[in-house]
Amino acid sequence: MRYISFTDEPSIAPDEFYMNEAIKEAKVALDLDEVPIGAVVVCNGKIIGRGHNLTERLNDVTAHAEMQAFTAAANYLGGKYLKDCTLYVTIEPCIMCAGASYWTQISRIVFGAHDMKRGFSRINQQITHPRTEIVSGVKENDCATLMKNFFLRKRSKS
Ligand SMILES: [Zn+2]
Repeated sequence: MRYISFTDEPSIAPDEFYMNEAIKEAKVALDLDEVPIGAVVVCNGKIIGRGHNLTERLNDVTAHAEMQAFTAAANYLGGKYLKDCTLYVTIEPCIMCAGASYWTQISRIVFGAHDMKRGFSRINQQITHPRTEIVSGVKENDCATLMKNFFLRKRSKS
């Protein structure tokens, strides 16, 4: 039973609860003027890794929210595999992050909005681990709106 210790917010579905946590991370990125994408890794109902996009701040094109969350979760567990974990991420992972998820052997990936340009599912659906279950569309509008507003604001500034 994956959500056995899920007691904080019984009124909403676990996937929505944890996606809200990923959205909080996206808002941290937004406050830093980073592209607002956030992620959390959950194991047995506990958040064991958090991350938000930091590519500007770290001058690192690989500093995506998912990569930060995978590293944090692996550090927490003391091992590189995330076999009984779920990644919640506000926007569909790119092929780099989907590729990294393969190496973690993560059980589930739950994402909010599709990324029509860089999302892995349009490029190569086989890139994730065959045992990884993919769920999309959780709090999709909230996740997409954060991105839309960010890029609208960017465009009006330039
Ligand atoms: Zn990525």
